[in-house]
Amino acid sequence: FRLEMARSEKIHIVGQLAASVAHEVRNPITVVKGFMQLIQHDEKLSGRYHDYLQTMERELDRATGIINDYLSLAKPQEGQAKIINITEQLHTVCHTLHSYAVINDMRLNCRVKESYYVKGSIEKTQQLLVNIIKNGIEASPKESVIDLDILKEKKHILIKIRDYGQGMTRDQIEKAGMPFYTTKESGTGLGLMVCYQIVESMNGKIHIESEPSKGTCFTIKLPIYKG
Ligand code: ADP
Ligand code: MG
Repeated sequence: FRLEMARSEKIHIVGQLAASVAHEVRNPITVVKGFMQLIQHDEKLSGRYHDYLQTMERELDRATGIINDYLSLAKPQEGQAKIINITEQLHTVCHTLHSYAVINDMRLNCRVKESYYVKGSIEKTQQLLVNIIKNGIEASPKESVIDLDILKEKKHILIKIRDYGQGMTRDQIEKAGMPFYTTKESGTGLGLMVCYQIVESMNGKIHIESEPSKGTCFTIKLPIYKG
């Protein structure tokens, strides 16, 4: 219980911080990106500078990603709840992350065909799936796969996201989702925290099973929407 108190208190503080900073920073980044794209379209630009600009743009996108993590903390209530076909959302997110997987020599294996429905916001649900699948990719060796599945269990659905990567220790599992907890050199330690928040707002639960150097399975348990 005390752990939960600390978690929500920290989330509140981080959220306040986010609200005051994130918006302000996102606007100038958009402007810089716009001018960079203009320069990139200049025919006189040499190949070398073209490459530099591409690197700059990629890094700016990374910065935007981090800011978006903070923004979603600032506005946890954003995104209207409606009935979502979660199977469709999982396929959409796999499509979005396809290139990220390919860059890492990985494959996303999504076998789900049957449609399942839950109640929530589309943006939040996509963010939830993106954050967890991205972590899976980042923890995996080259040429491995992430298995994605949805099972039905009485009044819930279980979304299973399984990787065969580095795995987590008990201590890591316990700390996962705490603000700023990261083991990555350039991680924010905010991704899972946002995930826990989203799943909680959907009356669901996240369960982590993991074994170091064997892999990790994230299970997202959500109530099925019954019409
Ligand atoms: P970040 O990705 O920025 O590090 P997250 O909140 O997304 O922040 O994740 C927190 C930490 O949880 C990661 O740094 C990593 O140590 C651990 N983690 C999350 N998902 C996995 C996974 N699939 N396999 C191994 N470790 C993971
Ligand atoms: Mg992450």
